Amino acid sequence: MTQPTNPGFSTRAIHAGQEPDPRTGAVVPAIYQTSTYKQDGVGGMREGYEYSRSANPTRTALEQCIAELEGGAKGFAFSSGLAAEDTVIRSLLHPGDHMIVPTDAYGGTFRLIDKVQKRWGIDYSLAKVSQPDAIRGEIRPGVTKIVWIETPTNPLLGIADIAAIAQIAHEAGALMVVDNTFASPYLQQPLALGADIVVHSTTKYCGGHSDVVGGAVVVSKSVAVREFADAAERIGFHQNSMGAISGPMDSWLVLRGLKTLAVRMEQHCSNAEQVVEYLQGRGDVTHIHYPGLDSHPGHDVAARQMRRFGGMVSFQLEGGEQHAVDAIGRTKIWTLGESLGGVESLIEHPGRMTHASVAGTELEVPADLIRLSTGIEDVRDLIDDLGQALG
Ligand SMILES: *Cc1c(COP(=O)(O)O)cnc(C)c1O
Repeated sequence: MTQPTNPGFSTRAIHAGQEPDPRTGAVVPAIYQTSTYKQDGVGGMREGYEYSRSANPTRTALEQCIAELEGGAKGFAFSSGLAAEDTVIRSLLHPGDHMIVPTDAYGGTFRLIDKVQKRWGIDYSLAKVSQPDAIRGEIRPGVTKIVWIETPTNPLLGIADIAAIAQIAHEAGALMVVDNTFASPYLQQPLALGADIVVHSTTKYCGGHSDVVGGAVVVSKSVAVREFADAAERIGFHQNSMGAISGPMDSWLVLRGLKTLAVRMEQHCSNAEQVVEYLQGRGDVTHIHYPGLDSHPGHDVAARQMRRFGGMVSFQLEGGEQHAVDAIGRTKIWTLGESLGGVESLIEHPGRMTHASVAGTELEVPADLIRLSTGIEDVRDLIDDLGQALG
């Protein structure tokens, strides 16, 4: 196919890195379930493939596709979101360096930085991503090397102003890394707003079907901090040295998921909006956390930097923790489980489940909080089921 000069999002999702196979015409990239490659004489590699930790054609297709979807120079696919995050931090920082981390970061991200990276000499400070001045206040000149944000955040759906924070980071000579898992590249493009690196748990919306665990990193075409101009080379070197790569089958599943990302995200957003409207109409819901609401403190920023407001909704209920836990246990279509971003709707209690590990820290979440990952089932059924569960 000759690519149009400026292909739209779904055209890239369906075609980038995925030319039909020249030999057979197969439209879908093969699952190259191979560890090694025949060489034509010693050192005679075909198209650069010698061993599948270093590179595999199915993974290459995914890496090219996700790089194009984020508008970046180079993509890397990993065995999980946390492997992607670990690679970014360890390939770029040195003992003694400092990073800024969101107060409501994904619990696993916080654990990685607090329990693993810190032992190897990487220091961090917490700051609310919704308050750029708080981030500025935590900068240690010459020592802070990464400002790490998520937006929207998990599980409270806080919104960070990506462009404003990128400027703060760059003035301090620090890289701006955005975990774009909640928005997906369809709803939000951090690199275009000034971020240097995007990370994903492709387990979530990119894969989209709750059938794979994976992660990705995309590096900008114009990394703003000179010290990190070679970030893509360093990340690629670390990916191969450490080896937490995405296998061929997992790469293929994420690649297939990406093809329908736009249509799925539209439906996730529409369903979430209707669920929010339903919750607003109930008398016993005390707080709804959804950036699409005018009353959300990050609404204006979200409206500026996101295409729509996403499929994640959190809310609080009258009646306290036990009432919330009981209601969650009564849903029939909303499946009680961790994770998010799949076609099936999920419900969970962050305080006792996804965020149990941050109890007692600054990241602790309200005890009566319920988190919804709105799937793409018929929204009428989702609302009926919430209704019977909440009573
Ligand atoms: C799930 C998640 C991660 C971690 O990804 P894994 O694929 O589970 O390793 C990181 N960030 C966010 C926002 C997530 O939701």
